[in-house]
Amino acid sequence: MIKKDKRIVLMGAPASGKGTWSKIITEKYALEHLSTGDLLRKFRKKDTALARKIGSYMDRGALVPDDIVIGMVDDLLTEGEAKDGFVFDGFPRTLPQAEALDLILEHHGESLDLVIDLDVDEQILVDRVVYRRVCIDCGQPYNLKTAAMRPKVEGVCDQCNGKLIQRSDDTEETFMERLKAYHDQADPLLDYYEKQGKRVAFPCSEMTEQTRREMFELIEEKLSL
Ligand code: AMP
Repeated sequence: MIKKDKRIVLMGAPASGKGTWSKIITEKYALEHLSTGDLLRKFRKKDTALARKIGSYMDRGALVPDDIVIGMVDDLLTEGEAKDGFVFDGFPRTLPQAEALDLILEHHGESLDLVIDLDVDEQILVDRVVYRRVCIDCGQPYNLKTAAMRPKVEGVCDQCNGKLIQRSDDTEETFMERLKAYHDQADPLLDYYEKQGKRVAFPCSEMTEQTRREMFELIEEKLSL
């Protein structure tokens, strides 16, 4: 483990492996994994009007308004939660969020170091979702198209013998809508970071030892580690 004080944003389409990559990178460089999705899920459990308002956006799959999310991130970074560096996953999602993040960091005498754009072939994203099955009891995910992720017995969870199901929104049609929504949101942000010279695309249709090594090489080259 290399301890480094770096600030990274990870961007990628749904099913691109953002959560997994965040974990790999944060463990390697001892950074904090910050996910606004996780923060908001925790926050909405409170019994307050704001928590109910947040829940109503999340239940519709809509973005929570910028002022709420920016306020949360400002509090988090000001409390020094990630003072030794972070990987942001799921934030920023809009241009005002990206601009606010720059300002918050500037206020603390810091700045963003790198934006990694996970680049996964579209057909692979579709396959990850359409062939995904989850255990109805324990939530363990499987994938019928990937040998290493198939259940030992068809339709049955290896871990708890629960029944495997396909989630109702794991269809190609719904996924293509989510993908379009992602690009509508993300493309202006990627342009913003491109202009700042901070964006780097990382081809990662597969998650292997080799791609892990390439990810570390990329980070170490770009951040002069
Ligand atoms: P995620 O776990 O990143 O998919 O986020 C789950 C939900 O939380 C999203 O569908 C949004 O409703 C909300 N959310 C997460 N991050 C943000 C953000 N940066 N801006 C607005 N809403 C967000």
